[in-house]
Amino acid sequence: MSAHHSSYLYAILHLKCPRCRKGFLFRTSNPYNLKHTLDMHEHCPVCGQKTELETGFWYGTGYVSYALSVALSAFNLAWYWIFFGISWKDNSILYWLLTNAAIVLVAMPYLMRLSRVLYLSFFVHYDPHETPHLPLRDHNLPG
Ligand SMILES: [Zn+2]
Repeated sequence: MSAHHSSYLYAILHLKCPRCRKGFLFRTSNPYNLKHTLDMHEHCPVCGQKTELETGFWYGTGYVSYALSVALSAFNLAWYWIFFGISWKDNSILYWLLTNAAIVLVAMPYLMRLSRVLYLSFFVHYDPHETPHLPLRDHNLPG
């Protein structure tokens, strides 16, 4: 199966809404604008899906970003091992640790965004046939 613009992986990696796979869920496109890394729309701009499903919903993303960091480290270990080799006899493990720390640090703003979209996708499933609608007003607000 070729990469398709509405595939799950494509949508998640591009930080799109897990429900419509079209709406971009963050207010700014650049995750390295650190003041706004985690600024999300309250509702998907395309289908109106709520993003923070309940108060404190995003606390669960800590585990997801941890898992992503571990996966990225494993990936870094694999290619480092292949291209440079890792041995107990020299400092190569130390060099890998430093290289890995730098890569994980640089990737972190994106990983934080990715972990939110990934986490949301555990609860919100793809629904391409839903009629697009404008975001609903929040009825819980007083007044
Ligand atoms: Zn959407």
